Amino acid sequence: MPRIAYVNGRYVPHARAMVHVEDRGYQFADAVYEVCEVARGFIIDMPRHLDRLDRSLRELRIAWPMHRSALVTVLREVIRRNGVVNGMVYLQVSRGVAPRDHVFPAATVKPALVVTAKRTDPLAIARRAANGIKIITVPENRWERVDIKTVGLLPNALAKQQAKEAGAQEAWFVDPDGTVKEGGSTNAWIVSKDGRLVTRPADMGILRGITRATVMDVAKKLGLVVEERAFTVEEAKSAREAFITSATTVVMPVVEIDGTTVANGHPGSVSLTLREAFFDVAEKTVA
Ligand code: PMP
Repeated sequence: MPRIAYVNGRYVPHARAMVHVEDRGYQFADAVYEVCEVARGFIIDMPRHLDRLDRSLRELRIAWPMHRSALVTVLREVIRRNGVVNGMVYLQVSRGVAPRDHVFPAATVKPALVVTAKRTDPLAIARRAANGIKIITVPENRWERVDIKTVGLLPNALAKQQAKEAGAQEAWFVDPDGTVKEGGSTNAWIVSKDGRLVTRPADMGILRGITRATVMDVAKKLGLVVEERAFTVEEAKSAREAFITSATTVVMPVVEIDGTTVANGHPGSVSLTLREAFFDVAEKTVA
């Protein structure tokens, strides 16, 4: 089945899906995005993702490219046209196309919308979760507004490349005080020695992950205590468990941090239980 993308009002073959050279997303990273997991034919936590999109757009004073319900129709259509049952749907809204100038273009310039979808192999992801992943840590070097989900992801790309070259799958950004912020594309968690789930508060300084929010709901249902506080790399290395969350990885156990084995080097039971229970608790919209 050939891949199809939605680009500014048209469904086009993926290979010919293009934006203008003066799209502000391309020139200034003046764009925001969302990624929703598609699992067993459902879009996972779509309302939460669209609420966060609304917040990102508002923070940057970019208008919605179309009505929210019309956007849902486009998401569904792209998923359908690509035959995605398990995978993800990506949407990006830029401030639009205008002659290159740092200041905002006239209000008549319409925001640009791109939507793509792709299939993923649930078995490959499950295998990865059964083994757990390795993390490296890198100094935080991003701007302060990482709570806005912009496409300005160069520090994240560099950090994840560094992780890959070190044989790891994710990099955690660490503040000068030694506390963990989040991963290049995931939120960071530990299970403390006394069995509490610990994750950094999501005021500013990290992205308010949708999976993070739903994992909190899962934890509540399972009677687990969640503590929103910063934790250090040292605490994570000696924690009972560590894991990351994101729409594409759901709950992914961490078994090594900067070469130090976490616990016995195998995914922890709390991480795997949260992973198991996630789908039942998450909000499911028929794709
Ligand atoms: N932090 C960053 C920097 C991310 O890019 C992502 C993934 N979009 C996350 C956290 C996880 O967010 P979510 O659970 O909404 O996918």
